[in-house]
Amino acid sequence: MSGNNVRLQAIKDVEAYVPPTASFDIGEAPGEIFGENVFSVSVMQRRLPKSVFKSVVATIERSEPLDPLVADAVASAMKDWAMEKGATHYAHVFYPLTGMTAEKHDSFLEPAGDGSALAEFSGKTLIQGEPDASSFPNGGLRNTFEARGYTGWDVMSPAYVLENPNGNTLCIPTVFVSMTGEALDHKTPLLRSQQAMATQAERILRLFGHTPDRVVSYCGPEQEYFLVDRHFFLARPDLLNAGRTLFGHKPPKGQEFDDHYFGAIPERVLGFMMDTERELFKLGIPAKTRHNEVAPGQFEVAPMFERANVASDHQQLLMTIFKSVAQKHGMECLFHEKPFSGVNGSGKHVNFSFGNTAQGNLLLPGDTPHDNAQFLVFCAAVIRAVHLHGGLLRSSVASASNDHRLGANEAPPAIISIFLGEQLADVFDQIAKGGATRSKEKGTLLVGVDTLPPLGQDPGDRNRTSPFAFTGNRFEFRAPGSMQTVAAPMVVINTIMAEAMDYIATFLDAKLAAGTEFNEAVQDVLTEIVTNHGAVIFNGNGYSEEWQVEAEQRGLKNLRTTVDALPELVTPEAVELFSTYKVFNEAEMHSRYEIGLEQYVNSVGVEARSTLELGSTVILPAAVRYQTEVATNLAALKAVGVEADLAPLEAVSVPLAELRAALAALGAALAAETPHDALAEAAYTRDTVIPAMNAVRTAADTLEGLVADDLWPLPTYQEMLYIL
Ligand code: ADP
Ligand code: MG
Repeated sequence: MSGNNVRLQAIKDVEAYVPPTASFDIGEAPGEIFGENVFSVSVMQRRLPKSVFKSVVATIERSEPLDPLVADAVASAMKDWAMEKGATHYAHVFYPLTGMTAEKHDSFLEPAGDGSALAEFSGKTLIQGEPDASSFPNGGLRNTFEARGYTGWDVMSPAYVLENPNGNTLCIPTVFVSMTGEALDHKTPLLRSQQAMATQAERILRLFGHTPDRVVSYCGPEQEYFLVDRHFFLARPDLLNAGRTLFGHKPPKGQEFDDHYFGAIPERVLGFMMDTERELFKLGIPAKTRHNEVAPGQFEVAPMFERANVASDHQQLLMTIFKSVAQKHGMECLFHEKPFSGVNGSGKHVNFSFGNTAQGNLLLPGDTPHDNAQFLVFCAAVIRAVHLHGGLLRSSVASASNDHRLGANEAPPAIISIFLGEQLADVFDQIAKGGATRSKEKGTLLVGVDTLPPLGQDPGDRNRTSPFAFTGNRFEFRAPGSMQTVAAPMVVINTIMAEAMDYIATFLDAKLAAGTEFNEAVQDVLTEIVTNHGAVIFNGNGYSEEWQVEAEQRGLKNLRTTVDALPELVTPEAVELFSTYKVFNEAEMHSRYEIGLEQYVNSVGVEARSTLELGSTVILPAAVRYQTEVATNLAALKAVGVEADLAPLEAVSVPLAELRAALAALGAALAAETPHDALAEAAYTRDTVIPAMNAVRTAADTLEGLVADDLWPLPTYQEMLYIL
């Protein structure tokens, strides 16, 4: 009866599998290959005429537009370099609102008219492309008759050659906009928001007496992921379709021993990590740390922080590379936020800071009193920004899959608060009380404003339950999900920081104009902010029940699900904010809102249909077979005159009946006519479809604990999580 059991076959295949050994010389120094496939500044310096090079560098460093006259020279040098590296095609790479990476490939070869072909790549094709935009989500931004979209090179993010066994491609990171210039991607608003943030940060720096260079925002994403043997993956249609297990009984051994976290990395996984790091290095992506994460089968990679737009491109590229290298090693890399229920999920912590070459990191406490006052001003900007716009931050990480994490006692709560660390919180506390005179620690640095206390260095410490934590020289936003692009949260962070710094600079300007002395004006703005926005500071346990209650008293939003969070994007305040700083116009905000709702409904829809199909065609039949086996046994016992106990039959029959009923209810929920309004449809999905799906799972998981092992058709949690 179990002859075709895919699970048992998968176990055999896993046992027989021999992982590949290194495909490269293990003596090779990482420094030799770093950036090998990148058309970097140093490559440009070697290959471009001096004046052209200077113009490109100005574009990169000062975010100036690229001079079209130099584009031809750059394109020609880039093409020669790429062809030497074996590239036959080029691709404009862009990041549509699906959250994925899209590419349009074209050959370098163009017919010469005489039957031969010439390698062509002009400045125009470098800086602009025209992919058909009709199959990408646009949330009503594009009229159907105008299907064209435009891609434009983001000069600040370097071009690179992506290797493939069948031929290499020159990849050009681009923005993706509609005919009329509206953003159809994640990168366009990221670039706009960086500019808005920089402009306001520079105003503050000027007030502190600097003549600042262009300020940029930095982002260091920490990526968590799971690895499972590919044979198991392929035997789980739910993982294939939905990226997460829709069924699965909790394993006898979970993560309660904490023995996986920072434990020895399995040999096979280490082989995969070395291979991925090498690929990342070639592309100039600085992968720095690697370790096991909390859950079994879960790991983390943290590349060094970079300029936010570059970090965002690199992050997307990293996910693509991890997927393909994992397959080479007979594994599947899962980026879903919650692939296994009852086991820790995966996040992508977004570490962010901002600064420039001369003044350095502006979120680092300084060496002089003056610098520390400046540091406190930038921290105060974060406090104001997060307090006023916590709902927007929450909406920037909203997705059906991330809803499984947020607020689930393993990831930060859906309430957005700030953790400052004891010392910094104490300083702000004293400022709130009208001028601080003492510091909690015997600090070493004076703050510069007479009434402020000395400030010790590295005041950040660890609070893993906070969604937005100061960690010594940066803030760490812990709510983003592992599958998401970092661009969406970075756009919000940059924009709300722009607003807060605009507010501060304007406040200081007004005070100074009225004759207030500078230090006093700084003191005033700090006091004003901490008094009005200090409610967002919370140093306690974000997982506790009490915090839910207290946060509500403090007036902080608790947007539990995507359906609660997305409307934040279209409040009049949000529309005003984003249009003031020219990051999104109203139509663009609405399009993102619509697309967010649509993706929520679609992804839960896929899960629900998979649940129905798997439940009906795989799990139900297995349970029925087992029920028959038990019933046959009873009949046989009866036939020989043994008094039979009916309990084992009932034990399987009850959940089986529940499974049937739950499947019927899920089928009905999916067949019902859904509301036409996008928000109402998403609410229906959340309130009707998800509970119906959960009921199917509950019955099925009970059956998994009862049905004979050799009849159970799906690889178990035990197998997927512990066999690597
Ligand atoms: P932890 O596990 O303690 O959070 P990790 O080493 O795993 O730390 O990751 C820290 C991340 O923060 C890395 O991506 C790192 O590059 C990034 N980071 C460090 N300093 C900054 C900074 N000033 N701005 C932005 N990101 C930073
Ligand atoms: Mg970490």
